[in-house]
Amino acid sequence: MRTLDGVGVTPLSGVGTAAWYGERAALPEPPDPAEIDPEAERERLENARNVARTELERERERVEAAVGPEEAEIFEAHVQFLDDPQITGGVEDAIGEGLPAEHAVERAFGAGIEQFEGMEGRMAERADDLRDVRDRLVRALTDGDRDALATLPEDTVILAERLTPSDTARLDPERVAGFATALGGRTSHAAIFARAIGLPAVVGVGDALDEVEAGTNVGIDGGAGEVLVEPDDETGDRLAGGRAVAVRHGPVSTADGTDIEVAANVGRLAELDGAREAGTDGVGLLRTEFLFLDRDAPPDEDEQYETYTRLLSAFEGRVVVRTLDIGGDKPIPYFDQPEETNPFLGERGVRRSLGPDDELFETQLRALLRAGAAAGNLSVMFPLVATVGELDAALDAVERVADDLASEGVEHAVPELGMMIETPASVFSAPELAARVDFLSIGTNDLAQYTMAASRENERVADLHDPRHPPVLRAIRRTVAAGHEAGVWVGICGEMAGDPALTELLVGLGLDELSMSAVTIPDVKAAVENTDRERARDLAERALAAATKDDVIRALDGEL
Ligand code: PEP
Ligand code: MG
Repeated sequence: MRTLDGVGVTPLSGVGTAAWYGERAALPEPPDPAEIDPEAERERLENARNVARTELERERERVEAAVGPEEAEIFEAHVQFLDDPQITGGVEDAIGEGLPAEHAVERAFGAGIEQFEGMEGRMAERADDLRDVRDRLVRALTDGDRDALATLPEDTVILAERLTPSDTARLDPERVAGFATALGGRTSHAAIFARAIGLPAVVGVGDALDEVEAGTNVGIDGGAGEVLVEPDDETGDRLAGGRAVAVRHGPVSTADGTDIEVAANVGRLAELDGAREAGTDGVGLLRTEFLFLDRDAPPDEDEQYETYTRLLSAFEGRVVVRTLDIGGDKPIPYFDQPEETNPFLGERGVRRSLGPDDELFETQLRALLRAGAAAGNLSVMFPLVATVGELDAALDAVERVADDLASEGVEHAVPELGMMIETPASVFSAPELAARVDFLSIGTNDLAQYTMAASRENERVADLHDPRHPPVLRAIRRTVAAGHEAGVWVGICGEMAGDPALTELLVGLGLDELSMSAVTIPDVKAAVENTDRERARDLAERALAAATKDDVIRALDGEL
């Protein structure tokens, strides 16, 4: 048995027979331009575009029904690439020079792909989208392996250099036991789809994956982020069990009886059912940005009220709604956002709500307080608070809105109020901040970024952007201590909370609540039940005293 390390995308596992996908045979040399009839090539191209458009529409509908409208939007972006004048102009020129349509497509798309590849972060992922559209067109023109993915034998493990969103959408979870790719990260579109449709997946395995031959027995351990080549019987049986952990509905506590709330992070309406099915206690982070993205104007108070009402009534437990958190990596086109050289250090989160977006903030608070009146389970929190003054201003805004609603005779909630701890500044002011609120929720994605001075978007500093570094753990401990001193609950809603390998440590650090993507809830609930608080505290002490991340990892592995 050989183990290849990658990045786990879902805490699911599977085992099956490896099949390589996507080694697109290079096109043969183009014929002599004199043999090409540009008019006929234009017609072939037009037919291929129609085929691609129909396929994309079908896949969009399928994904919309199975996953949700927002995930399906990627296919609309692909249709736009099909019609992009710069690209179609390039194809047209190449046909005019005497290239067959498929070669013309290769050349014109190649230029765009190269351009995106030269960019950073999310823009670089657009190269994948363009590649996807190119391959679709070339397949339609050459009648290639269009249905290969849809007609796989059962228990196939797909191996690929990379998978595009369309490839992933075409995978049938009934037949595919999982996939592994050489490239890609946790935020790539393929990874997001895999999480949404519940496929075992490991990405970013690197060149080592090339050595795995088709036909080999391969296990995918999405929880550990490992590809197991020719697993032994015991490992194979374990991985074939898929999700080893049963869903637990209802509250969980540690072996010695400490209650830990395990909640879901929700970023769109399509995630509601998944969160409930995963046995969530409530919502620990509702990212309201989804309401504002992909449209031409902000939603008005009534539209927001309807959506919040629907969200709050979907859960019996507490729903923590975060007020709008834009800026940084979340720009909104219709907002007047300045060009900033360093947007993660610029006008983000509550800074905008107290500045240029104050009216929008008030509208959102009105909608929230109205929706919370009937539901009774609303909590509200503010993102990216750095100073006590900001928190006071945000709390004043809530009070003003409540007074306005009262004077208008409109029923409104008096919600629990809290804030996110995402900046080192807020950690150092945690006692003063905690004295003003009902809870603190630690956003470890940003807290790790700002504590370690390592962008959450830059793969080259991924090793630094890791909450297991002792300074991040000490920041968490300091926050918990300040919160408990002030008598308020403290949770984590960053990605860290969803890693079951860290649950014991987080319980030991004193967290009261952990909020995560729905797919990891059953594993974290199981991990909570397997935790003994005294041992967890002991682990936390060792981790807090560690000098390096490696020492923390050794402590987690029981070696320190
Ligand atoms: C965080 O920063 O950890 C967090 C939960 O907020 P977001 O990921 O939305 O920035
Ligand atoms: Mg954040």
